[in-house]
Amino acid sequence: NRELVMIPGPTPVTEPIRNEMERETAAFKDPNFIEDFQQVISDLKNLWGSSEVFVVAGSGTLSMEMAISNTLKKSDPVLVISHGFFGDRMAELCERKGLEVDVLSCEWGKAVPVEEVEKKLSNKNYRAVTVTHVDTSTGTKAPLEELGKLLDKHQDTLFIVDGVCSTAGEPEFINEMGIDILLTASQKAFGVPPGLAIVWASDKALKRREKIGEISEYYADFNKWLPIMNDPSKYFGTPPVNLIWALKKSLEFIKTEGLKERFKRHQVRGKAIQKALEGIGLNILAEEGARASTISNALYPEGIDDTFRKVLKEEGVVVAGGLGPYADKLFRLGHMGNIDINELVTVISSIERTLFRLDYPVEFGKGVNIFLDNIMRN
Ligand code: PMP
Repeated sequence: NRELVMIPGPTPVTEPIRNEMERETAAFKDPNFIEDFQQVISDLKNLWGSSEVFVVAGSGTLSMEMAISNTLKKSDPVLVISHGFFGDRMAELCERKGLEVDVLSCEWGKAVPVEEVEKKLSNKNYRAVTVTHVDTSTGTKAPLEELGKLLDKHQDTLFIVDGVCSTAGEPEFINEMGIDILLTASQKAFGVPPGLAIVWASDKALKRREKIGEISEYYADFNKWLPIMNDPSKYFGTPPVNLIWALKKSLEFIKTEGLKERFKRHQVRGKAIQKALEGIGLNILAEEGARASTISNALYPEGIDDTFRKVLKEEGVVVAGGLGPYADKLFRLGHMGNIDINELVTVISSIERTLFRLDYPVEFGKGVNIFLDNIMRN
């Protein structure tokens, strides 16, 4: 049986992108590769609207580390808005760097009210505010635009956004939203295998990098990578050639689809999936108004436990389990990147079959019906 891997990253990699991974690896000084790398850098800058982008071998956690290490120094006050496990990871990382960390968090599934952030900002001069756009542990989406507007009034405070579970799936416009650092990775809404850390930086963030002087990080130092990002024929660390080709292919699809259309697609389908899941008796952890379009965290109904995931796998779909307080209480379904309607219909139908096998009352086709009604009549 072919398995559909619907965890929140790595997401399914389509054949044209996969083919890039299979190509014979070129020398990183190969003029054709240099041109391809250049194209990737300029696409990323043009599409998301920022002065600089760093594309290096690593995962999302390296992106988080790069964002913090290059903009903040020991004892700097930072405000971390946390909507779950990855917000907490950001707080832990900041603590480790010796920053003065204030954390604003709330019950899992809810979003921290912007007024609370405003209150914090009026009481202290933070050097940066960080937020996880979509926290994968809760499926909660932060109100990025409102936060950006708020931070507009605090010119000395950098706005750092973790987009690992959102970038290329949820609207993120760096200049327009006043984002200073957007950090992400290749394995989620880009639909590229894991292995690339991607970090955009605004002029303000780059100025901050200059201001803080030498940092103890070596591989994560913006200053080491800047010459390469401006001229990929230069060398600092070996670029992951095939992954860069894969990202180039992904960006070609993004340009063809259009970034705004891609965000819209995620929004319409995400909502339809969530309505379908609710319609068949599963509650979504994230509250209405703060639900991501890239992921759904669905709570098991009364009488169903994590055996659900084992049975669903037998029905051909792999989803992730809950984290932290929701371990064994929910499943996490990723629906971001390059996934088509046929696959989503299959997923919902497999969920119905799984619930049936677990003796849960099921009206076959109801979820699929709600899903299609929402997509086709939207
Ligand atoms: N931030 C968020 C929101 C994430 O979802 C993840 C990964 N699930 C990370 C950071 C860490 O990324 P990685 O696992 O690629 O290091």
